[in-house]
Amino acid sequence: MRNQVKHFINGEWIESTGSETIDVVNPATEEVMGKISSGTNEDLDKAVAAAKAVLPTFSNSTREERIQWLHNIVEGYKKRKDEFIEVMTDELGAPLSVSEEVHYNMGLGHFSHAAEALESFSFSENRGGHTVLKETIGVSGLITLWNFPTNQTSTKIASAIAAGSPVVLKPASKTPFAAMMLAEIIDEAGVPKGAFNLVNGTGSVIGDGISSHRDIDFVSFTGSGSVGEKIMQNAAQTIKKVALELGGKSPLIVLDDANVEEAAKSAVSHMMTNTGQVCSAATRILVPTSLKVQFEEAVQKVLPSFPVGDPRKKGIATGPLVSEDQWETVQSYIEKGEKEATLLIGGTGKPEGLEKGYFAKPTVFTDVSNDMVIAQEEIFGPVTTILTYDSLDQALDIANDTIYGLAGYVIGKNPEKLRDVASKIKAGRITVNDADTDFHGPFGGYKQSGIGREWGDFGIEEYLEVKSVHGMPS
Ligand code: NAP
Ligand code: MG
Repeated sequence: MRNQVKHFINGEWIESTGSETIDVVNPATEEVMGKISSGTNEDLDKAVAAAKAVLPTFSNSTREERIQWLHNIVEGYKKRKDEFIEVMTDELGAPLSVSEEVHYNMGLGHFSHAAEALESFSFSENRGGHTVLKETIGVSGLITLWNFPTNQTSTKIASAIAAGSPVVLKPASKTPFAAMMLAEIIDEAGVPKGAFNLVNGTGSVIGDGISSHRDIDFVSFTGSGSVGEKIMQNAAQTIKKVALELGGKSPLIVLDDANVEEAAKSAVSHMMTNTGQVCSAATRILVPTSLKVQFEEAVQKVLPSFPVGDPRKKGIATGPLVSEDQWETVQSYIEKGEKEATLLIGGTGKPEGLEKGYFAKPTVFTDVSNDMVIAQEEIFGPVTTILTYDSLDQALDIANDTIYGLAGYVIGKNPEKLRDVASKIKAGRITVNDADTDFHGPFGGYKQSGIGREWGDFGIEEYLEVKSVHGMPS
């Protein structure tokens, strides 16, 4: 049992001013794996005060100092690789291989890439008639989701350190332990006291407190659209800047010259990776009508190569959903899908032999039309939908007929068509033929998928204000 009931404030682990705790549940066993404190507004005030106190010095730290801190964090992070992998497997339910290859690596990548981006980042630019200076925005409040425990936290923290912005982090209460490891690593890296603070607790107390706090200048949030809306409303009271990373319902367009087996593998990988709890996952698969049957057969053939089961067992590709709530939500979408579309694989209930743990059956719907609930709403589980199209224009219309715009995918051979699709999908990140993710590339959404960008130099920009100086002596 991990009983970690303290908050990290001003460089120290301190007791909460309240006595309530939150149980953290291992979703594969349904057992309580540890406890955290349910923080109070008083705890939050202390953390914000610490951040505010260090702001003048931290925001004036040099580029070299910040790069050194980021490098030190990278070294400290690497030393705790095995522990990170185990912690994320237990708190999130990610298979050990996914915890290592996806979660561990993404967190690490953000710190090392922020250091790299900072090397050449321009904080001052002479534009002839005026000079543009980029200065720390102030104290930042960070609120994160559970689905990528190190990625969500690290991208925000790395950008904030690069920009010299002290932070108060409230990690998701479902997955707090990897974030608490980061606090220890950041402390050991020599980052000044007060520049990184972590307060655990519920969204309704600490999250709400962050977004409405008078001494917080910027809020960076990752999570659901409904909470994003509340955060904007709270932030409006003090005209606080917000960055929101919200949901998605991303299209994957399979071109008529695509290798159908490869396209099916990609579609299945999107629904199975991290048990489909990926905001940028492709969950609307658009195939030419002429390839529909072939594509369905290929999906059925490839699915068994993504075995579902105990995330601590070798060879498992997909673990449970993060919580009972999430399991119930996914079940209700599968029920809706069974009414509106054709069930190709899966369905409601738990997979055979996996009655304990929040496991869901990998589920594929076909004959889906874009106005169905399962094509419009984010399910956040191992569920995908197959839609058909007859012309590329029609495919693009369907792809863009959504309130979201986080990501888009295209698979095929013709370079002209690939370029055309990449430029016409209205979304913040497009991936052609399963290209690798470059950590320097900005991440964020159009439309209701969010506001702002994370990762690399675009991520750093969020934590800065822009000042124009006219008549600057040279
Ligand atoms: P959620 O409720 O929005 O939770 C996200 C975070 O916000 C948690 O730390 C949560 O605290 C906190 N929170 C809850 N209520 C709050 C409030 N009133 N004020 C401030 N903070 C509050 O997320 P969810 O419903 O569990 O997760 C699923 C959604 O997140 C999906 O729709 C998915 O698309 C989206 N998502 C987006 C991205 C992206 O980058 N675009 C990435 C991943 C997921 P607790 O500790 O109490 O939960
Ligand atoms: Mg929620």
